[in-house]
Amino acid sequence: MIIFKIWVGERLVVALLFLLITACLPELLIIIATNFNNLFKHNFHTHTAYCDGTSSPEDYVRAAMQAGLESIGFSGHAPVPFENHFAIPDINSLQAYTIEIQELKRKYKGKINVFLALETDYIPGITLDNKRFTENFELDYIIGSVHFVKNENGDLWFIDGPDRSVWQYGLTKYFNGNIHEAVSAYYRQINMMVETQRPEVIGHFDKITMHNHGDYFGEEEPWYSRLVKETLEIVKDNGGIVEVNTRGLYKKRSDSLFPGQKILEEMKTMDIPVTISSDAHKPEEVSLLFDEAAKTLIETGYLEIYIYNEGEWKSIPLA
Ligand SMILES: [Zn+2]
Ligand SMILES: [Zn+2]
Repeated sequence: MIIFKIWVGERLVVALLFLLITACLPELLIIIATNFNNLFKHNFHTHTAYCDGTSSPEDYVRAAMQAGLESIGFSGHAPVPFENHFAIPDINSLQAYTIEIQELKRKYKGKINVFLALETDYIPGITLDNKRFTENFELDYIIGSVHFVKNENGDLWFIDGPDRSVWQYGLTKYFNGNIHEAVSAYYRQINMMVETQRPEVIGHFDKITMHNHGDYFGEEEPWYSRLVKETLEIVKDNGGIVEVNTRGLYKKRSDSLFPGQKILEEMKTMDIPVTISSDAHKPEEVSLLFDEAAKTLIETGYLEIYIYNEGEWKSIPLA
């Protein structure tokens, strides 16, 4: 009887301890995380001088090694069939880009993982299908992004870039200043991109809010939450990793990471996979705000994060 009581007692203590640790796990991880740096050692989103970045690919590889990264993925803006100043200009440049990255892969093997990727734009009826790029080049992955929103007349609203007046100009000219209509068109385009192109990573999910700063609409308004939820459901159904992109914050253009906190929370409840990227356009930007982004994810409840390695996306523990 005494032995039985001790046995039951021990089991109870172990069970209570287990419950306590499980309940406190997110807090414990936050305590651990806030005391360590370099929480995420991979960046899969960078732009070189082949598109709108400043430097040669090798400069980014060196910067990544110096920053203690284990992976650096190059995601040059894929060519688009209209005049622009941001994308790899033509097929010859694209070829040269892929050859140079493949060479760096070989040169730095065993020191840092180098990956060849593209950030493709999606504009229905205008941009090429992702498979045109994957069929012709040995890409590791594709980041799918929307930088131009098409209105019903086929005009393109440029929603990226530092200049709020450009954003405002497009909103007025192409959507008669109707923010509801314009933002809906943005998310519709993301939905179509996810459904028809199936990019492995969805780039800067809510970039449409970058110049908002609460002046045009409230991001807690029901119509906006509905749009976001609908898009997240499409991501969930079709697959895809949502990147947590630090660029808007470190460039001081946005009030939050892309996506913002409310969307991250929604994503966590839906169990949507994430990775972290800096969308670097300069070597010194390769891992900016990574610790902050990792801590935000841990506080949101994410315990794992996705990285690309040995030909596939896989989850690793966060922190
Ligand atoms: Zn982008
Ligand atoms: Zn980018």
